[in-house]
Amino acid sequence: MHNYIDLNWKSWLEVDPNSDFPIQNIPFGVFTYKGKRPSIASRIGNWVIDLSAMERHGYFSNLELEDYSFFHSKCLNPFIAKGKEITNKVRYRIAEVFEQFNAELKNNAEARKQILLKIEEVEMLMPVKVGDYTDFYSSIEHATNVGKMFRDPDNALLPNWKHIPVGYHGRSSSIVVSGTPIYRPKGQTKSDTESSPSYGPSRLMDFELEMAFITGKKTKLGEQVNIDNAEEYIFGLVIFNDLSARDIQKWEYVPLGPFLGKNFGSVISPWIVTLEALSPFKVEGPKQEPAVLPYLNIEGAHNLDVNLEVGLEPENSEETTVCQSNMKYLYWSMAQQLAHHTVNGCNINVGDMYASGTISGPTEDSYGSMLELSWKGTKPLKLKDGSERKFIQDNDTVVMRAYAKKNNLRIGFGEVSTKILPAK
Ligand code: MN
Repeated sequence: MHNYIDLNWKSWLEVDPNSDFPIQNIPFGVFTYKGKRPSIASRIGNWVIDLSAMERHGYFSNLELEDYSFFHSKCLNPFIAKGKEITNKVRYRIAEVFEQFNAELKNNAEARKQILLKIEEVEMLMPVKVGDYTDFYSSIEHATNVGKMFRDPDNALLPNWKHIPVGYHGRSSSIVVSGTPIYRPKGQTKSDTESSPSYGPSRLMDFELEMAFITGKKTKLGEQVNIDNAEEYIFGLVIFNDLSARDIQKWEYVPLGPFLGKNFGSVISPWIVTLEALSPFKVEGPKQEPAVLPYLNIEGAHNLDVNLEVGLEPENSEETTVCQSNMKYLYWSMAQQLAHHTVNGCNINVGDMYASGTISGPTEDSYGSMLELSWKGTKPLKLKDGSERKFIQDNDTVVMRAYAKKNNLRIGFGEVSTKILPAK
């Protein structure tokens, strides 16, 4: 009953009609203001709502919760761990307080001053402490493109790909929030023309356009998440830029998969958009042929229709859109990923992060990495300033955006922005 914020509601806060953050979104994040202690927050339009301050002023007291301490935590994990019954109630209550005909905060200038901050005044921080991180490989277009480039164009997909949501365990320590610059990694590479490997800065820096979900419920070792309940374990989603050094990756990845080519930095958008806010945008995924095993079988709409785009901005220059894709293309849904992840009894925790894998679409302008957009460097992209790119150059900024839109409702994620600095 608290899952749904009325589509007709408007806020007494000013919200641009093209904002990603109308009153129906109510995402969650963490910010700091002038170096003060971090607070958990929500956002409407360009206003950041300090939830700790809202609690101090008594605006959640009517929820009659047993415990209010999670409002004063420095990350969202204790809040998320309360479960959807509580998180949805809090989300609904925030919307209620900011609904245009509700005067309880609107007419309290003193409280308003402490609760509301302008987005440009605050610094956004990592919203959750990420325990474990998994990266899937769930786009059939991406897996096919990579298979064509690096293996056999006639058998681009490996035999397991349509049976298993393929994934690997990544590194959580190097997941950082939008705005954090990343140094070009150094490492070992060997091109096809070299007889022995060499060490130096990566020459093939790339982004991967991905979305990631965060679990809000844990399981015990040995337990399995049933696919029909899998979405109950998903708190919300962020945009995920899985930076990749293709030359390091190519030399190291056989036989155990990606390692140093991937773990030098992955960057997320700061606002976690809840699965409830995205529910109007659920769509059916691509038809799965051959049929999947019963533990992966789920009927109905479990993909999300979320528009995705990537811009590349050279230093002191304007941004060029290099990719437009959509999350709905994913072959494997989040429910299938989570059911597969736990089918062997692997336990999951609150705050774990699961990235989708690069989300490429069917057309050449919808590929989610430079590797595919420039087809291994054979087709350089032209940028607006006249320069060309095969891969990311030093001091380029990669910007990813994501939003869903249907009729008059737009629910978005904002952006994740990452500047690539020269190797240290
Ligand atoms: Mn990836």
